[in-house]
Amino acid sequence: MLLKIVQVGVPVLRSGTRPLTRDEVRGAEIQQLIEWMRETMLDAPGVGLAAPQVGLPLRLAVIEDIQDVPEKERKPVPFHVIINPQLTLGAGVVEQYEGCLSLDGFQARVSRAQAVTVEALDHHGGPVKIEASGWYARILQHEIDHLDGTLYIDRMHTRTFTLTRNLTRLLP
Ligand code: ZN
Repeated sequence: MLLKIVQVGVPVLRSGTRPLTRDEVRGAEIQQLIEWMRETMLDAPGVGLAAPQVGLPLRLAVIEDIQDVPEKERKPVPFHVIINPQLTLGAGVVEQYEGCLSLDGFQARVSRAQAVTVEALDHHGGPVKIEASGWYARILQHEIDHLDGTLYIDRMHTRTFTLTRNLTRLLP
């Protein structure tokens, strides 16, 4: 089932989220939600989707990236879920254009840590430790920001904010 992706201005995007218990993660409701969020993300299409973006104040996000773009350090990332993530930023900062399914049609340049470590629960409720760099590290930072009520527009270099359809005019 495709869920409605809420757009900027809807309070749930700013409200913050609550953690899930392991029992909740293993329960039928969250398992169904994960499947529907996956379908919604693939349909959008997007490479990440956080629960607040479908109206739910829960510390859960889904991620999947199929693209391979060496100049952006972007490599395919298989589908997975992060629940109750704890983010640790590594050294080094990279600036790239970034967009969001809840700010449909816009992008801006955002500086992000080049590498991160994330400790979270997976879709079985088991602990996972993710070491990520490049575009995958950017996705993780963007999605975990959503769980804290933060959007990329809070971090963007404001004068780079643009309609996606105008982006080609700005790129060399
Ligand atoms: Zn987003």
